[in-house]
Amino acid sequence: MKKKMGLTSKIFIGLITGIILGLILHPIKENTFISNYIVGFLFHLVGKVFINSIKMMVVPLVFVSITVGAASVGDIKKLGRIGSKTLGFYLVTTAVAITIAITLATVVKPGVGFDLPNDAQFTAKEAPKLVDVLIDMVPKNPISALANGKMLQIIVFSVLLGTSMTALGDKATKVREGFEAFNEVILKLVMMIMKLAPYGVFALVAKTFTELGYGAMKPLAAYMLCVLGALLIHALVTYQGLLVAFTKLNPIKFFKNFSPAMMVAFSTASSSSTLPVTLETAEERLGVPKSIASFTLPLGATINMDGTAIMQGVATVFLAQAYGIDLTLQNFLTVILTATLASIGTAGVPGVGLIMLSMVLTQVGIPVEGIAIIMGIDRILDMCRTAINITGDAACTVIIAKQEGELNEDIYNAENVDKSIV
Ligand code: ASP
Repeated sequence: MKKKMGLTSKIFIGLITGIILGLILHPIKENTFISNYIVGFLFHLVGKVFINSIKMMVVPLVFVSITVGAASVGDIKKLGRIGSKTLGFYLVTTAVAITIAITLATVVKPGVGFDLPNDAQFTAKEAPKLVDVLIDMVPKNPISALANGKMLQIIVFSVLLGTSMTALGDKATKVREGFEAFNEVILKLVMMIMKLAPYGVFALVAKTFTELGYGAMKPLAAYMLCVLGALLIHALVTYQGLLVAFTKLNPIKFFKNFSPAMMVAFSTASSSSTLPVTLETAEERLGVPKSIASFTLPLGATINMDGTAIMQGVATVFLAQAYGIDLTLQNFLTVILTATLASIGTAGVPGVGLIMLSMVLTQVGIPVEGIAIIMGIDRILDMCRTAINITGDAACTVIIAKQEGELNEDIYNAENVDKSIV
């Protein structure tokens, strides 16, 4: 009997053919047919339809799944325990990520001898103040938070709503069951939309690579390699190390099973848009129970950005070297602290990491205009760091599920995970 190809393989094929076709089309991208019809219409249409359809699911999914998560944990104490462990894990791994980034960039010195263009212009959109980020977490009006997709506000409201259901116990059964049923419906829709993923992924990466090619990357190769190196070290050493230390599970399986979500994150460059896929993958292929995944993953997609912190660490050191500014130990500590906090305020959408970088640079007196230098090639790095951003969320989720004794190891270790899903 002919074996049906799984969705993961299809997405992978979409990704690779998209990159290859993009690089082939790049030299002829000015051609009217290519730019108007292939890139401007076909790639744009398919890519946008895919992104919009998964984005469409994000607000309802975050709202319903966090509420269900907080409502079904069982008791308030457990909720508090999982909540504080998750936050602790997210903050510590981000701080580790940026430390790796700074160390690598200090050793490799990608910015030493870099020719600064004299027209490096960048008007920084103002990064929000930390105090405002904190105040802004509490919604004055939850409906407006939902309508405007304010993730942190939606999370705070949903956690409180779910917590009050937990506190009410049996009296809240009807509402809880309603939310649970709604959650099922939303996830079903996500699975239907995922059938589009191979085509969406193909179109998105083909468009990016046609527009960028590899010429733009040459002068910044050292910087890019440094970011990629730090991302790789963080994934292979930090996450795998933590998984082995805390769970004794096979870390290779973790990456293998989680890869479909990483590929979608790569092509969309948005943790927030990828969230429906992240949730689905964690539950169906890593064996994390819904009650934990639906709480920790949306939170992670919003506040945990290890990959972004890595780019900010390398970029800060790179620009300091390019401008000939010496960074002191105190500067480094400031960078670690600010980038960790900035990661909380970074929305999981493309390019925001770069805006938040201005907050880090300002703290240590590096010209914000420097951002213009790395802006041209940032999209490619954004794709890579977003894949790491969501991997950090998933690693935390697996560890917490295992510690709570709720990880389904049969699913995690299964040789043939359900290929029909993701
Ligand atoms: N694109 C990243 C994400 O969604 C955020 C960033 O670094 O710009 O995770």
